[in-house]
Amino acid sequence: PQVPVGSILRAAVRRWGEREAFVDHDVPLTFTELGARASAVANWLAEAGVGRGDVVAVHIPNCRQYPAVYYGVLMAGATFSPTNPLLPAADLAAQLTDAGARVLVTWDQVLPFARPALAGTPVETVVVTGEAHTLDLAARLDGLADGDVDLADLLAADPTDRHHDAGVDPATDLAHLAYTGGTTGVSKGVELVHRNVVTNVLQSACWSSGSLPELDAAGDVTLRQVLGPDESPTRLGEARMINLTPWFHAMGAIGYLNGLVMAGTTTVVHMRFDPVRYVEDAVRYRVTSIGGAPPVFVALLQVPGIADADLSSVRGVSSGAAPLPTPLIERLQALLPDAVIGEGYGLTEVTMQATGNPSFRSGTRKPGTVGVPVFDTEVTIRPLGGGDPLPPGERGEVCIRGPQVMRGYARRPEATAEAIDAAGWFHTGDVGVLDGDGYLSIVDRTKDMLLYKGYNVFPRELEEILFGLPGVAGAAVVGRPDEDAGELPVAYVVRRADDAGAALTAESVMAAVNDRVTPYKRLRDVVFIDAIPVSAAGKVLKRELAARERAAGT
Ligand code: ATP
Repeated sequence: PQVPVGSILRAAVRRWGEREAFVDHDVPLTFTELGARASAVANWLAEAGVGRGDVVAVHIPNCRQYPAVYYGVLMAGATFSPTNPLLPAADLAAQLTDAGARVLVTWDQVLPFARPALAGTPVETVVVTGEAHTLDLAARLDGLADGDVDLADLLAADPTDRHHDAGVDPATDLAHLAYTGGTTGVSKGVELVHRNVVTNVLQSACWSSGSLPELDAAGDVTLRQVLGPDESPTRLGEARMINLTPWFHAMGAIGYLNGLVMAGTTTVVHMRFDPVRYVEDAVRYRVTSIGGAPPVFVALLQVPGIADADLSSVRGVSSGAAPLPTPLIERLQALLPDAVIGEGYGLTEVTMQATGNPSFRSGTRKPGTVGVPVFDTEVTIRPLGGGDPLPPGERGEVCIRGPQVMRGYARRPEATAEAIDAAGWFHTGDVGVLDGDGYLSIVDRTKDMLLYKGYNVFPRELEEILFGLPGVAGAAVVGRPDEDAGELPVAYVVRRADDAGAALTAESVMAAVNDRVTPYKRLRDVVFIDAIPVSAAGKVLKRELAARERAAGT
């Protein structure tokens, strides 16, 4: 669609008006109020000379101010560049410099860490908000220096809903400069134009709510429900969810910010994930869907008394960002028998989503797969060293083509040329396989693959088995360097807090797994650990475990 991202908010304000868009610490914000605040941010930026071609870094956790800042930046025509507020100062400095950020929107509690990172970066203006603003915009913040701008003053200065029009060109103007999760290495800046973002929001929202895109009378983009209540877990204008997926990550910004605003969903904002509080609020607000990365579901299933909580309002569960093991799907389904459990697959480089399961198009759910491509998207599997697409059933690199594929990596023409070929296919670095119906399964990441005596071992296959063992709450398999074999598969296992967990031994785990796999894939050791390290986006940080293995070997 030839509309900028601001079009999503304009249509939502008109359509959902007085409905609650966000609730934070029990304080609601309606769609109308969100529109007015976003306009105030946009107008302030425009008056400060920040617009098309300028980058605004947003360095705040999920909070009620986030959506207004997000849409304000985009409506001003500037580029939104999110950062993880917990980034160490050196990484923040590198990211701000790489992004060329002129403005930094930050949080009072992280100011002491963020400020020293600013020297030598292009940041000219610092805008500050904080938890105090969540409860009361008039509350004063700590630690502001001369020249810093208090977000509350900025919002109070122009409360009108003028819907600033920056004359954005959706096909060429950058909307997001998003950084990849850095799970496997250096985090790279991904350039997404407005059209990438609007398209992927639509592809994702249509998939999750059983809707079709539509332009409203004013030419702004919205959704029309096509599937009935029994077919689609999300009803436009009726859904309620708790958001804990970070908005600085692709899944958060596309699926759980834009997607929910477009669908007229009320979002309860939790800044940090606290599983017990999550369950309490899920019951209290009668949430209709639960969304997040798999570690969230692992933690929810461990909440004491979860089986007795009244979660009967939940109609959909949506997972993404990392593999959702089949035994975990089964446990979730047992807890929520009436819910449709969906899974999406994607990457920052394809804005967010490329495929989804179940397919509402065919009505078929295939557990263990990540489904079929979303609208207007193609997926092929190619040999790992390059070459023509492989037939169904053969493993290879997942390649994606569609309107959500990024323009390229910022300032890395070589990396861009390596990732996107001349025919427009983005090479993901994920190993996958398509079945005869076009359903994709992710086998693993090429970077996580182990080499045992020349054989490829995919840790995920072993992790699936581990997840299915009684007493196992979490598991990750990495390689232990070995002179003879190259790498030996070693499992890190988290015990469940029950008798089955207590009974686990390294020998019993190895025996259970090794019985079911071909000999070269066998686990050679099991290490029990309190928690598997995961990134803010919910991805297992295998490099941390692999580093432990390397350190142990020296
Ligand atoms: P970096 O590329 O810097 O290491 P990252 O890979 O964490 O960072 P993201 O774009 O956040 O950056 O993550 C994309 C990756 O997440 C995919 O390549 C894939 O490996 C994994 N992923 C996403 N969704 C799924 C899913 N449903 N099942 C399995 N893996 C998934």
